[in-house]
Amino acid sequence: MTGRVLVVGTGHAGATVAGLLRQAGHPGPVELFGDELDLPYQRPPLSKKFAEGQLEQWLRPAEFYREQDITVRLGEQVTAIDRDRRCVWTDAGRAHGYEHLILATGAEPRPLPVPGANLSGVVSLRTLADARVLRKCVEERRTLVIVGGGYIGLEVAAVARANDVAVTIVEREDRVLARVASPRLSEILAAHHQRQGTRIVTGADVVRIEGDDRVRAVVLGDGEEIPCEAVLVGIGATPRDRLAAEAGLVCAQGIVVDAQARTSDPHILAIGDVTRRPLSTGSLARLESIPSATEQAKQAVAAITGAPPVAPEVPWFWSDQFDLKLKIAGLVPPSPGTVLRGDPATGRFALFHHLGGIVAAVEAANSPAEFVAGKKFIASGTRIDPARLADAAVPVRDAVIQ
Ligand SMILES: Cc1cc2nc3c(=O)[nH]c(=O)nc-3n(C[C@H](O)[C@H](O)[C@H](O)COP(=O)(O)OP(=O)(O)OC[C@H]3O[C@@H](n4cnc5c(N)ncnc54)[C@H](O)[C@@H]3O)c2cc1C
Repeated sequence: MTGRVLVVGTGHAGATVAGLLRQAGHPGPVELFGDELDLPYQRPPLSKKFAEGQLEQWLRPAEFYREQDITVRLGEQVTAIDRDRRCVWTDAGRAHGYEHLILATGAEPRPLPVPGANLSGVVSLRTLADARVLRKCVEERRTLVIVGGGYIGLEVAAVARANDVAVTIVEREDRVLARVASPRLSEILAAHHQRQGTRIVTGADVVRIEGDDRVRAVVLGDGEEIPCEAVLVGIGATPRDRLAAEAGLVCAQGIVVDAQARTSDPHILAIGDVTRRPLSTGSLARLESIPSATEQAKQAVAAITGAPPVAPEVPWFWSDQFDLKLKIAGLVPPSPGTVLRGDPATGRFALFHHLGGIVAAVEAANSPAEFVAGKKFIASGTRIDPARLADAAVPVRDAVIQ
């Protein structure tokens, strides 16, 4: 209980676990190492609010870390872990010993492997610095091509269109959000974006980016050239697990952890986007979301302080696109039954995905009550009557089969 805890990474997971350790009464030293220069900040606003207002939304004010006696070392990268001597090395050439090490190194944007991807005007979005560049593109009304129709791409497209920027989304799969949403939600969202003037090209590969000193066009596999003045690459993120892998921890595209955030070394935990974690179904997955990072931070604190393991949570996250406040819980299974409640044309609807009446996922837009009910159904394995659930005049709870 009195041991020194070192946390590598000052993102949501790292900053949260440090605060929670103090909240749980951990008396020993807690030190955070981050290779970014900024205090821990919120990433979700970077794709939703980058065009207006304050980008720097700190997770905690600087005084919090002082008051809680948490040492924050910014601009210092951890370069190696010596598991035998239980210490880490940093790029400042110093070694720091630990009783418990928490790896919260996050993920980084997957680079686009085509010629021209390094041209000026081609950007990705992970950090405050990236968001500042994107803000400038929007302020200058630069015609934008977004490579990748995932959540970040769609959120940026919504902000850019709201600011009168011409936007084309190029997606390799046959629909946007192919990896993370149901086909029905993809279809509804694509139509919503197209109504706002975004061009969406699916089933298309970017083979080259043209330009001289700056980007000029994106070239697709079929030869089409899309003229543009800026390109956002949003084709997913890869876990920053190299430090762990080099130290010999078990990794499989992410640091493999158990339901208590423990790695293959009893003195090392890992949390957040860098992990491959167990789901309630028994399979392992990478969940890149704030709720998952927070849940794992709680798991790590319980493992360190000896508190009872935390109860598993239903995975969930949110996204804002134009006037749509989306909240999604659970994971959409292959070939589910799907119930639509509400009307997409009004912007208020929920899609419940079920297997034989047992709800596995809910995708809700501007429907907080349906989201909350759906999340509870998933947690409890509740069986619903699809016909009653589809009828918006029937209260959601009355669709439950007792
Ligand atoms: C633009 C954007 C929008 C998002 N929107 C949402 C949303 O709406 N809802 C949602 O639930 N989730 C959203 N997410 C995902 C969410 O932000 C992530 O799941 C969350 O930030 C993960 O936190 P993390 O601490 O694991 O990783 P990160 O936030 O990536 O933090 C890891 C930190 O560790 C540092 N680091 C890495 N290696 C080292 C090292 N060796 N030494 C020192 N420091 C190191 C990194 O520089 C980084 O600062 C969004 C993400 C992005 C990028």
